[in-house]
Amino acid sequence: MTVKMKNQKIEAKELLPIIKYGDPILRKKVSNIVDFTHLPQMVTKMFNTMYEESGIGLAANQVGWSVNLLILDTSTIEEEDNCEAYIFVNSKITNTKGTVILEEGCLSVPDIRAEIERPATIKLQYQDLDQNFHERTFTGLVSRVIQHELDHLQGKLFVDYLPPAKRFLINKRLMEISKYGRPSTGIIL
Ligand code: ZN
Repeated sequence: MTVKMKNQKIEAKELLPIIKYGDPILRKKVSNIVDFTHLPQMVTKMFNTMYEESGIGLAANQVGWSVNLLILDTSTIEEEDNCEAYIFVNSKITNTKGTVILEEGCLSVPDIRAEIERPATIKLQYQDLDQNFHERTFTGLVSRVIQHELDHLQGKLFVDYLPPAKRFLINKRLMEISKYGRPSTGIIL
């Protein structure tokens, strides 16, 4: 099986444990990166971990590094021409346009998925691994993943957007995640 082969290949590489809901690290706002020296190694480990966990985006504080770094790669589920892997350092949204409702999930909040409304298009200011500054507009799934990961870097999780009635439905599951790393049953809201 393709997936198994991929896993076996990655086994030799260093993977990082994903920090789960309930850990205070996920609620702490990260710092901007000043020293770029170790970023390439960090990013490689983050990509290996993200692919291993079948994620499409990962924020640095989800693996315990409280710095402004996020990666994403939607090519595993999208087949658009503009699919590529992205690395954003010290990124921030400078403009948004429109709104769209999309279903989200999170490696730190496993087995819980929910429809969340967010801006459709974003303008993002960021640095690359060589410290160069960029500003670029993103839309579609890439825009959505960036916003989800940027929330992580601000200490925010997608379940924070849920109205009380929906939040009530997942409270027990969130407690199970913080205790055992997974809820006893999954749910899609
Ligand atoms: Zn997440």
